[in-house]
Amino acid sequence: MEKRILLSYPTMHGEEMCFVQEAFEKNWIAPLGFNCDLFEEEMSAYIGRGQSQRYHALSLCSGSAALHLAYKLAGVTRGDIVLCSDMTFAATVNPVSYEGGTQVYIDSERETWNMSPKALEKAFEKYPQAKVVALAHLYGTPAKMDEILDVCNHYGAVLVEDAAESLSATYKGRQTGTFGKYGVVSFNGNKIITTSGGGMLLTADKAARDKAFFWATQAREKAAWYEHEEIGYNYRMSNVVAGIGRGQLLHLEEHRAAKERIYKRYEVELKDLPITMNPYLPETKPNFWLSCMLLDEDVKVTPMEILEKLNEKNIETRPIWKPMHLQPVFKANDFIYAEEKPVGEDIFTRGLCLPSDIKMTEDEQAYVIDAIKNCF
Ligand SMILES: *Cc1c(COP(=O)(O)O)cnc(C)c1O
Repeated sequence: MEKRILLSYPTMHGEEMCFVQEAFEKNWIAPLGFNCDLFEEEMSAYIGRGQSQRYHALSLCSGSAALHLAYKLAGVTRGDIVLCSDMTFAATVNPVSYEGGTQVYIDSERETWNMSPKALEKAFEKYPQAKVVALAHLYGTPAKMDEILDVCNHYGAVLVEDAAESLSATYKGRQTGTFGKYGVVSFNGNKIITTSGGGMLLTADKAARDKAFFWATQAREKAAWYEHEEIGYNYRMSNVVAGIGRGQLLHLEEHRAAKERIYKRYEVELKDLPITMNPYLPETKPNFWLSCMLLDEDVKVTPMEILEKLNEKNIETRPIWKPMHLQPVFKANDFIYAEEKPVGEDIFTRGLCLPSDIKMTEDEQAYVIDAIKNCF
């Protein structure tokens, strides 16, 4: 193929430009503004659909910023232990360090690849003082929420839910990002919808949302002059960027359906190979952000060999997120697992993310599938 087939990149539709245009016409280019307010309202309506509870959304410059504010709201401070997903993107866990907390990493389970409730329980036995749990829904697949919440509630811990990859995915009909006291989504360029860069904090606690707004706008007190009692941040989303998000949100369900078709096609067409697809629970509807494959245990070819072979054919693939406890920067952090051997490490050594871009044509996906088959 002459054109490189990519993992996932932005898909624009046209409405985005209309909202951006409006911001330009009103010369409302600054952070804050009508697009931010409306994007927040539209998102909170979207994620709260069918629920009696109302969610408050705060638009921010990135998912990482939203996670940082979520940890601050959860009260993470110097010396605190935070029980974190091990197999995830570093952005989930970095802000714990900004606040002086220490991450203890919790292994994955095999049914969703997300945080193992069993390992979480074990971690609480070792660290009963832990007050915050940080859970990511990997690749758009919801975690075992009932079990995770049971453990969190039993130990009185606050759940921070990183739904950066899973916007529009549901667990028993309920949106990811609404289970934790604080939920986070990302609109980074490769996510299911994008604003070029941005994120949102979600919470049912209006006062918490307002506190996060205060921190995100330089912690400016109510006074005519700039009065500060706390350390603040410049974390707000711009009104221009929020316009892109409003346009994208109109197409979120369509993006989800397209991602699902891609996953289902891989699943069907690769079924005779010694591989399985990234699994999910029947009571969940993932958003299928990235389709991933897992090589069977006895297979000789490695994910890196497949990555290189596909790369030669101009196809982008990517290794699974390398578990945090294997990262040099976190070598001093504890890691808790509940199976015979760590599950995340095993998935990392046998898994690979496949092209999942919704602009990929059927012919292009056939070309990818063919290239994968040729590796065996
Ligand atoms: C993308 C991502 C983030 C960070 O979002 P940004 O908007 O890029 O800061 C956090 N966690 C996970 C799991 C992600 O994939």
